[in-house]
Amino acid sequence: MPTSPSEYAADQPQADQVWDVAVVGAGPAGVAAAGGAVRREGRVVVLDAEQRPGGQYWRQGPDGVGRHHHDRRVWQDEMSLLRDYVETGLVDHRQSHRVWRVEPPRDGAPGVVHAVRSLPGGPDVAVTVRARSIVLASGAHDRVLPFPGWDLPGVVTAGAAQALLKEHGVVVGSRVVVSGTGPFLLPVATGLAAEGARVVALCEASDGRGWLGRPRALLGMPSKLLEGAGFAAALARHRVRPRLRTAVVAAHGTERVESVDVARLASDWSVVPGSVRRVECDALAVGWGFLPRLDLAVAAGCATTPGPGGVPVLVVDDTFATSVPGIWAAGEMTGVGGALLAVEEGQAAGMHAAAAATGEGRLVTAPASKRLRRLRAFAAAMHAAHPVRDGWQTWLTDDTLVCRCEEVPVAALTGAVDDLGATDARTAKLLSRCGMGWCQGRMCGEAVSRIVSARTGCDAASSAARLCTDLAGTANRPVAAPVTLGLLAAEPPSP
Ligand SMILES: Cc1cc2nc3c(=O)[nH]c(=O)nc-3n(C[C@H](O)[C@H](O)[C@H](O)COP(=O)(O)OP(=O)(O)OC[C@H]3O[C@@H](n4cnc5c(N)ncnc54)[C@H](O)[C@@H]3O)c2cc1C
Repeated sequence: MPTSPSEYAADQPQADQVWDVAVVGAGPAGVAAAGGAVRREGRVVVLDAEQRPGGQYWRQGPDGVGRHHHDRRVWQDEMSLLRDYVETGLVDHRQSHRVWRVEPPRDGAPGVVHAVRSLPGGPDVAVTVRARSIVLASGAHDRVLPFPGWDLPGVVTAGAAQALLKEHGVVVGSRVVVSGTGPFLLPVATGLAAEGARVVALCEASDGRGWLGRPRALLGMPSKLLEGAGFAAALARHRVRPRLRTAVVAAHGTERVESVDVARLASDWSVVPGSVRRVECDALAVGWGFLPRLDLAVAAGCATTPGPGGVPVLVVDDTFATSVPGIWAAGEMTGVGGALLAVEEGQAAGMHAAAAATGEGRLVTAPASKRLRRLRAFAAAMHAAHPVRDGWQTWLTDDTLVCRCEEVPVAALTGAVDDLGATDARTAKLLSRCGMGWCQGRMCGEAVSRIVSARTGCDAASSAARLCTDLAGTANRPVAAPVTLGLLAAEPPSP
């Protein structure tokens, strides 16, 4: 905790300083937004929770962006621009700043971004930033589905396996199984194999045919095709054969994962009888895609809408303005679509946010560029080719944990519906404690919503509508990141 006024003075932007644009997040979208804002004469502050910029895609180790990164040139260009802007004082770039609340600009008063600066070994410090426009670019997190044994040590999300590798050079195991759906499994499997892990199985739950119906989306992005060919070559080099329509449906072990059950899936993802095979391993990386990280935006009042797969994304217009005046959003928050799409959106959002702040008013919006349209078409094709089917629920047993934080098994959740009369996810949560723990439903929220919908007999359309409402509800928390009462009390007063 800060102890003296001078400590605040060193860390606070001047208390009365009002920036044109505050950007939350220094991933592909946030860094591009800062660049876009500067190009429109905006003075910008960027806050990001991690020690180094890059976000998920360009996650850096202490030595910078490593060899498992693609599109490095784009990142290097964006970062070199950012460094120039920082040197010339146009951008104040702050890493290790965890934003816990955003207040939109209102009645002519600037918006306020509340953060905690946490440096290793140092005291946490409350930081408050004021800005006429705010760009939210807080990205996404792993989409998680429960299955028997998923709480064993050695079972990680695909994103975690990738983050450990990119940031720390740590390989999660020596015999690794990679399972889930979506193209993200490919860099995870090839990255692990390149660092010496034996990828003993690579299981893709979809059948891949979804891509065949969308040749234009594929042909419109030759760089993605090349990237895919590179992954295919790397998998062949490491003797990893992807198995389509298969998934890990259970993990086994005592102290940690020792083996997994790999099953062939029917079209609804239920297990094809007689197809389960035991595979020995010491780590399992599972990835079902990503969920936009919406808590700051939802708490600030930004409207959401069902995105691909029914999960909520932010409503934005063609300038990337959200439904709340003074707040723009870019990147995965508007729909998961990859780093290059995040960069395009970030640049546009930053420009529009700066134009509004510097009095240029609303910029004339050009129709979405050809590149933006192609990137969006590719993202739409990716989601259509890798849907999550409801049959994963047939993999669960009564004692499978749904909520790991509060250790709530499936039987307690279904009991809340069958025995206690819950008819919606919120009531089931109150009766079972699912989602009330440390992660606040970020991990189990989707599973709880889907299981309750299935148990209460919802049809596909209403369970999809419920999923969006439930997840947006879960994201709606006044404090998005942990902050101590001491820091709250120590926040500098408004000027
Ligand atoms: C775990 C994970 C791994 C991924 N790895 C890959 C990959 O290898 N290849 C690939 O093609 N795509 C990957 N993706 C998809 C990827 O997120 C993108 O396509 C791209 O990084 C999106 O850019 P973004 O700027 O929208 O979000 P992100 O890259 O997620 O950046 C968001 C930034 O916001 C910051 N932030 C979030 N909340 C706060 C807060 N409250 N306060 C301050 N800062 C905050 C984060 O620290 C982060 O730096 C990954 C996604 C995840 C979740």
